[in-house]
Amino acid sequence: MHLGSGLVLAAAGAQGEGEPFGLAAAAGGSTILPMHQGLGANAAAYGAPLMRRLEQLAAFTEIPGQLTRRYLSPAHLAASRQVAAWMREAGMDVRTDALFSLFGRYEGQKPRAPAIMLGSHLDTVLDAGRYDGALGVLAGIAVVAELSRRGERLQHAIEVAAFGEEEGSRFPAHILTSSALIGAVGPKLMDSRDKDGISVREAVVAAGGNADDYLRCARTAGEIAAYLELHIEQGPVLEQSGLALGAVTAISGSHRLSVTVSGFAGHAGTVPMAQRRDALAAASEMILAIERLACSDKALVATVGQIAALPGAQNVIPGKVRFSIDMRSPADGVRDRAHRALLDTFEEIAARRGVEVEAATYQRNAATPLADGVIAAVLQAIAACGQAPLSLPSGAGHDAGIMARHCPAGMIFLRCKDGISHNPAESIAVEDAEAGVRALLEATRRLDHWLARPGSQ
Ligand SMILES: [Zn+2]
Repeated sequence: MHLGSGLVLAAAGAQGEGEPFGLAAAAGGSTILPMHQGLGANAAAYGAPLMRRLEQLAAFTEIPGQLTRRYLSPAHLAASRQVAAWMREAGMDVRTDALFSLFGRYEGQKPRAPAIMLGSHLDTVLDAGRYDGALGVLAGIAVVAELSRRGERLQHAIEVAAFGEEEGSRFPAHILTSSALIGAVGPKLMDSRDKDGISVREAVVAAGGNADDYLRCARTAGEIAAYLELHIEQGPVLEQSGLALGAVTAISGSHRLSVTVSGFAGHAGTVPMAQRRDALAAASEMILAIERLACSDKALVATVGQIAALPGAQNVIPGKVRFSIDMRSPADGVRDRAHRALLDTFEEIAARRGVEVEAATYQRNAATPLADGVIAAVLQAIAACGQAPLSLPSGAGHDAGIMARHCPAGMIFLRCKDGISHNPAESIAVEDAEAGVRALLEATRRLDHWLARPGSQ
């Protein structure tokens, strides 16, 4: 890390805990954070305060000694109150909707202008890391704090959104509250229950809300001009490329299959090898074919995560095997072709080995392309921060995938150590946190210009 500006350094050195993003106030309020300094030029400006807040937020947990913050738990509600306080401190008006999404609003040049929404989620998985979700919310607040400090108003308002139940770690209803924002939550989801038998509806009431108002979470068309989410990558691509940031092109779609291979069970000692119809040997060949197929296309990943061999005895030839396939790609055509190729390969293997195969495709989710205009703004912002522009798809689902159904949406991925996520070992570098805030700020400004142009969408 080198320090590009003595002025920024002095200002950063002067800031106290109570004013973590009040970067240049001590330097007369005229310091501009020079984007051309490049990423990580001064990790103390936004990065260090952001890391401190991420640490503070990680203390809001249901289980001491680890980070578990499920949707509408007392820990989640307390974390929301803390985030609301930070939003107010950054100059935002704050409200929650009926499902406890939290929104901080910083008006544009004209009141009630359409908003650029910067968001992510505050709920976590069980025994989580401290960056998944929280990073995007707190970086959004850092962006507004910087604009507010400089007295800068954009043509659009900015709303920072803190969504809930993105992970689905409490209810069987993941990406819940951003779905409510686009009007995609119905009574069935509201009545879904957690493992203690409490429904979403009951949990909202217990938290002091009015569950009957959930339909009022839906925003009208045009109210939100674009959505942008900064999120850790949760994979190793950026780290392997030696880059802090990437522009996300699409949220991958998926095929999920349940495959049953039926052979014939028999004595492990008496049936000669040539006369066997071993379901597990056949399934093994199929699983290796899946791996080969996925390796043949960069835009494809496939996983067999579950397998059961029956009857499951050490001295019996397996008569039946069931296994799962989870296949993902940002390109629906690639995935559809791979799906057809797999079914053909399974038939060929089954015929050759004298077994039967039944492959049930029980889920096909289309990929969600993110908006070209938002991707362009993110790539330009990353380049303006001095980093080579890199784009990559997201193999995981995110609030941005839901928001993309409502308005132009995009994401910035931020490098995480060893690609580890959904794990307490989740880790990011302070320099990358700095780069993330800078790129988010820069991309927001570019989006503001792009969206204001007639016919931009
Ligand atoms: Zn997340």
